[in-house]
Amino acid sequence: MDKKGYFGEFGGQFVPETLMSALEELERAYGKFSRDKKCRAELARHLHEFAGRPTPLYFAERLTKKAGGAKIYLKREDLTHTGAHKINNAVGQVLLARFMGKSRIIAETGAGQHGVATATVAAKFGLECVVYMGEVDMERQKPNVLRMKLLGAEVVPVSSGSKTLKDAINEALRDWITNINTTHYLLGSVLGPYPYPQMIRNFQKVIGEEARRDILKREKRPPDYLVACVGGGSNAIGLFYPFLKDKKVQMIGVEAGGLGIASGKHAARFAGGRVGILHGTKSFVLQDKFGQIKETHSVSAGLDYPSVGPEHSFLREIGRAEYVSVTDKQALEAFSLLCETEGIIPALESSHAVAYGYALAKRLPKNKIVVINLSGRGDKDLETVTRAQSL
Ligand SMILES: *Cc1c(COP(=O)(O)O)cnc(C)c1O
Repeated sequence: MDKKGYFGEFGGQFVPETLMSALEELERAYGKFSRDKKCRAELARHLHEFAGRPTPLYFAERLTKKAGGAKIYLKREDLTHTGAHKINNAVGQVLLARFMGKSRIIAETGAGQHGVATATVAAKFGLECVVYMGEVDMERQKPNVLRMKLLGAEVVPVSSGSKTLKDAINEALRDWITNINTTHYLLGSVLGPYPYPQMIRNFQKVIGEEARRDILKREKRPPDYLVACVGGGSNAIGLFYPFLKDKKVQMIGVEAGGLGIASGKHAARFAGGRVGILHGTKSFVLQDKFGQIKETHSVSAGLDYPSVGPEHSFLREIGRAEYVSVTDKQALEAFSLLCETEGIIPALESSHAVAYGYALAKRLPKNKIVVINLSGRGDKDLETVTRAQSL
């Protein structure tokens, strides 16, 4: 990392003056928290007892046979409590908020997955929880709205702009500025101003640490490829980060290709975006020629965001990681493939990684190893998949 809070030219703190002191307070508190042995032990205990870690590194035997090439392993984040890697970050930040003496947690959510993870952990630790959500998203994701309410969270409908995630983020930021003394803003991915991208990556790197330990035990060497889907980029960086020093391990992030890059209806920031600033950080952003944020599309709500974590922009720039895209159709095919060959119903987000990882394994010789991050389970996507399959 170069200047404080930057990855090369990416990252930084592009926020109004009124938020600077809150970010400084967060940076200081996180520094103390992460150096404190007792805090670290408590985090590890809750990740184990509440979130269900460590998750297995699973050899996908039938999928490997069917591909006829490289060995395929799946890192099973779908087996965590609430069914996705988001719980790792939620547990970390709620413990940090408590450490800072905050009594109130706010979050924003698009698909509702991050809202559910946040409401879950806030309930466990008895903190007040308010989740901002666009009205359009609330309509699209009713089961998650119900879950958050059952967990005791207040879900605030946002009716400004496109009534989706980016408008919910604006509302959450407004709330934070007003209630900074009592409130922690629990961001859900490796986005936003410093220290969020660094802090959230550190809460997610447990994925890669476990995967690395398990593959070394089993195969006596690091894998040849890591493959993960990239929305904001937290599950991907969580898997990649502990392998960065293993120079031969190739890393591939998979973005949402939607209806195809040429259609303009996608969320592939690296294929269709350019450098810009959104929600406090400098990274690749999907924008028009006037710098207005473009509408994105993906069959998976979790990948449907116009910017990407700044560390990914940096890893791409220095050539350490590669970024590709997979279309809705390819992801839906991979969804069915994994259901039928392994008895695992993956999240549509994760299905993007499965699609690319499977095609990659097919092209590789049998002595290669591919690890795919299965970021979440697909129960939440059954309606979407059923509708898509009947078209
Ligand atoms: C939210 C989500 C994602 C995308 O978020 P990242 O920060 O890119 O990991 C991916 N998979 C699942 C299952 C999700 O819920």
